[in-house]
Amino acid sequence: MKVTVLVGGVGGARFLLGARELFGATPFPPLPDAPAGDHEITAIVNVGDDAWMHGVRICPDLDTCMYTLGGGIDPERGWGRRDETWNAKEELAAYGADPDWFGLGDRDLATHLIRTQMLDAGFRLSDVTAALCRRWNPGVRLLPVTDDRHETHVVIAKPDGAEDERVAIHFQEWWVRHRAQVPTFGFAQVGSDDTTPAPGVLDAIAEADVVLLAPSNPVVSIGAIVSVPGMRSALRSTKAKIVGISPVIDNRPLRGMADECLSVIGVETSAEAIAAHYGARSGNGILDGWLIADGDRASVDGIAIGSAPLLMTDPAATAQMIRAACALVDVALPGRNVGTA
Ligand code: GDP
Ligand code: CA
Repeated sequence: MKVTVLVGGVGGARFLLGARELFGATPFPPLPDAPAGDHEITAIVNVGDDAWMHGVRICPDLDTCMYTLGGGIDPERGWGRRDETWNAKEELAAYGADPDWFGLGDRDLATHLIRTQMLDAGFRLSDVTAALCRRWNPGVRLLPVTDDRHETHVVIAKPDGAEDERVAIHFQEWWVRHRAQVPTFGFAQVGSDDTTPAPGVLDAIAEADVVLLAPSNPVVSIGAIVSVPGMRSALRSTKAKIVGISPVIDNRPLRGMADECLSVIGVETSAEAIAAHYGARSGNGILDGWLIADGDRASVDGIAIGSAPLLMTDPAATAQMIRAACALVDVALPGRNVGTA
């Protein structure tokens, strides 16, 4: 079975732990001589958060997925390396280096140094990701949605400017430095003029048996992925069923600040409003099914709605969510080989 999952960072990574629990590990990078497994999990990862900091390229969502699946994540923070130290950050601050609001951990920095060297040498981000995964052995094929620059920027009121003056800042600055607490008017993807999906991405959607939207941020994770030219039409034309998992429980996002992002684009923080925002494939949207938390309610024309416990407390609980998501759109799980790996 081929399972393709659209993911952001923390929520996406936890969801992938459940997919790996259910379907077994997909060797990544592929092992040349190993027999193909029964199932293949491909994650298409958001790159909207990617940025240059202190001369290195950081890819927060790719790294969160890689560290989480590879056992290197800091379990308390949910991002960055466990057993991290911050000497480089302190030294940079002592020089007065900008940005001073972004914490690059010492261990984490090694990842960014290797990535930057490889990018400078001409490798694509997708190649670099596979190379880094050789160490982490994530058990999921991790594909950046695009190898091109496709950063999310945020239009805010210009600090100390006239009332109608606007300025665009990188999403990281908005999220980490301002905690999304500044007057905000919209999001824009900034990067290459001819951004295309990375190698393997369109095939992973076209050839999937089921496509899952992780309960990631609907705007700056899933939204940023779908905004890559070619992605929406790939989703709309695949023969696979597409099921999304709600990132809200009891009309509140769990971790992160999804509601700030939703309110900027005028979408209410509710399971129903997010489903309507994604839309039904039978209309102009991308969903066949939408799994909401027990106790929430939603009704959208053309979208099959199901409910289940949606707290990703551990991989087994998350695996059950994925079972429910597949059942909702009549995707049969090949019983004997699923969940036994
Ligand atoms: P980020 O890139 O690190 O912000 O992570 P994502 O975009 O992948 O995921 C963030 C979203 O995950 C938040 O909007 C949360 O509402 C959602 N989330 C986090 N934990 C859970 C959970 O246990 N269950 C569900 N349903 N959603 C969750
Ligand atoms: Ca993110």
